[in-house]
Amino acid sequence: MQLKKPYLKNYPDEKGYFGKFGGSYIPPQLIEPFLEINEAYTKLSKDFTFINELKYIRKHFQGRPTPISFAKNLSKMVGGNIYLKREDLNHMGAHKLNHCMAEALLAKHLGKKKLIAETGAGQHGVALATAAAYFGLECEIHMGEVDIKKEYPNVTRMKILGAKIIPATKGLKTLKEAVDSAFESYLNDTKNSMFAIGSVVGPHPFPKMVRDFQSIIGFEAKEQFLEMTGRLPDMVTACVGGGSNAMGIFSAFIDDDVKLYAVEPAGCGDKIGENSASLTYGKEGIMHGFNSIMLSDEKGDPAPVHSIASGIDYPSVGPEHAFLFSQKRTNIGLCSDDEAVDAFYKLSRMEGIIPALESSHAVAFALKYAKEHKDEAILVNLSGRGDKDIDFVIENYPLSNS
Ligand SMILES: *Cc1c(COP(=O)(O)O)cnc(C)c1O
Repeated sequence: MQLKKPYLKNYPDEKGYFGKFGGSYIPPQLIEPFLEINEAYTKLSKDFTFINELKYIRKHFQGRPTPISFAKNLSKMVGGNIYLKREDLNHMGAHKLNHCMAEALLAKHLGKKKLIAETGAGQHGVALATAAAYFGLECEIHMGEVDIKKEYPNVTRMKILGAKIIPATKGLKTLKEAVDSAFESYLNDTKNSMFAIGSVVGPHPFPKMVRDFQSIIGFEAKEQFLEMTGRLPDMVTACVGGGSNAMGIFSAFIDDDVKLYAVEPAGCGDKIGENSASLTYGKEGIMHGFNSIMLSDEKGDPAPVHSIASGIDYPSVGPEHAFLFSQKRTNIGLCSDDEAVDAFYKLSRMEGIIPALESSHAVAFALKYAKEHKDEAILVNLSGRGDKDIDFVIENYPLSNS
């Protein structure tokens, strides 16, 4: 099947389907509230006041546009051409604020008083707490008790930013239980609160809405790359957990003759529980309110997953990624834990940029790819900075062998 152009206007359809992927599989009580969000977004996305407010925030609060840097030493080492879109320079150090500020602005326009979300490693929680503080909204973050212990620095950040942390104490006390707990709280007060999802996942309209909010990465990058080099990149790559930073940079290039590589975490092996490469090893299924490709066990429940980078260890993937891959518009790159750490050190020591472990997956793949495609220009989305990962890396992967 040929994709209809312009792609962004034609996908998803009005029910939130990208081909057979996406949609909205939610309990009846949630249908109304999500419809309200969808209608508000559809209207506000064409409203000049909303668009201008968002532009102002991006420029004067987030520090956009983020630059593109040519990674000259890494390029020289592999004999290729690697460019980095610097989302690590976004306020708070990652791309997540791009959609959190917009979701909070939407909540403000809807007259909501509170933002509710779940968080795994705490990255989404920190970004949302930042947005809530900016807009004077309450912020309630649901987090598994196990994750609260594991990700303490992010819990502290959220507290300092004024968010209320609700520990999820049932079951395994991690992300899944946090999602359930957040939905329960949201259902109790849909009038005054808005649910804010942290990636291009969940029921319609979130995969579309979050993609649209993140597409600023791609549109900036396209213009900047043209200005820097006089041409488009040959290949664009990004790491994929839920897939928001990847969709953000891919969006601007889907209609162009540019290769797109979504990099999945190959973790430490190809068995269930050793990786979180959903598109590589998964199958079709419904989870968290949408149809996509997921890693599941024999019963069809989400499988245990692993990645060294806690922002990308998700057992499914945004429906648009499942669709674009099924249509052969995107390709998959794989990167193991060890390769990610190697890239983490290389980028730090050779370019003076400490990347997030998530982003290191995309860098590692770009290095492998560049060696085999020396004449191509490669654009990597550097989704975030690595300050949050330094203690973990230095304790578990001592410097001497890098
Ligand atoms: C959360 C996070 C990711 C993964 O999220 P996507 O929705 O897949 O982009 C990647 N990089 C960083 C720095 C993150 O914080």
